[in-house]
Amino acid sequence: MLENYEIDWASIRSEISKLNAKSIFIELPEGLKGAMPEISENLRDYRIYFSGENVYGACDTQDNPFDVTLHFGHSIIPDIDYGKRIIFIELRRRLEISEEKLSRLSSLKFKRIGLVATVQYIGFLPILKDYLERNGKKAIISSGDSRLTYPGQVLGCDFSAAISISDSVDCFIVFADGEFHARGIAISTGKETIALDPNTFEIRTVDHEKFLRQRYAMVEKAMNSRYFGIIVSMKLGQTRYALANILKEKINRAGKRAEIIIMNEITPQKLMNIPVDMFVNTACPRIALDDAELFNYRIITPQELEMALGERPLSDYTIDMINRVDRIKGHR
Ligand code: SF4
Repeated sequence: MLENYEIDWASIRSEISKLNAKSIFIELPEGLKGAMPEISENLRDYRIYFSGENVYGACDTQDNPFDVTLHFGHSIIPDIDYGKRIIFIELRRRLEISEEKLSRLSSLKFKRIGLVATVQYIGFLPILKDYLERNGKKAIISSGDSRLTYPGQVLGCDFSAAISISDSVDCFIVFADGEFHARGIAISTGKETIALDPNTFEIRTVDHEKFLRQRYAMVEKAMNSRYFGIIVSMKLGQTRYALANILKEKINRAGKRAEIIIMNEITPQKLMNIPVDMFVNTACPRIALDDAELFNYRIITPQELEMALGERPLSDYTIDMINRVDRIKGHR
């Protein structure tokens, strides 16, 4: 299961030994739960405990009583105070990038290109940059804000590495699985954005019209809503109490009513019996944007709320990003 990733068990064991850790808590993204036997075999000299919870990002790590946490599949978020010993195993993808695959980029008409990737593919950005520059383009990989570990990195809640150079490039190439990150960059920068499939090197220009139509329909629904539930996540890297309080004041100023609802895992089942007209999600922005249908089109972002209340122009559609989180009293 882990054969497609770069993983150096000797150095992981050495890091664990340096911490003199005997008991290990292991966090895995849902798609990698199948790797449990392989991980268990490679760490057989320790007492290991697997988390059975869903783990969506480095923002999402559980308090536990063990000597160290091994968190697979994400890079550390530098501006989070984790308050515990935690080793991040990023799981960089193994890929063969041939000159033949790279040559597909030669059809791009743009001269100045911004390069962005998720952490699994971040090590390939210099290869893309080198190819583009050998072929007469200017390729830029830029640092983002303090939520990002690497230049050129993108998270589903942080497009700052692209936004910071949007005035200096004609388009972006996003080297990542799926289209979510590319769509976020297209909307956040207003630049043509290409989703480059890391496996096939298929080039797809992101079309976000349908997405925006759906989001504007949600804004309209929110305009007609009277009672709002503002969701705040207890997850270490998602908590935005301060924002929730600001949003509540805005809703009240508009003569409407709102409650702040604290949650950990946010699921449609948990929201089902809460009698509000519309939820406003301050937790992971992907929840409202990726899963609108699951939530019965009853969940919007903070910026969409501002549009619905007339506090942000309808022409200024902005994707939600997490810039700062509030420290939770009681988290170590
Ligand atoms: Fe990923 Fe969401 Fe966490 Fe951001 S908040 S790191 S997008 S899971």
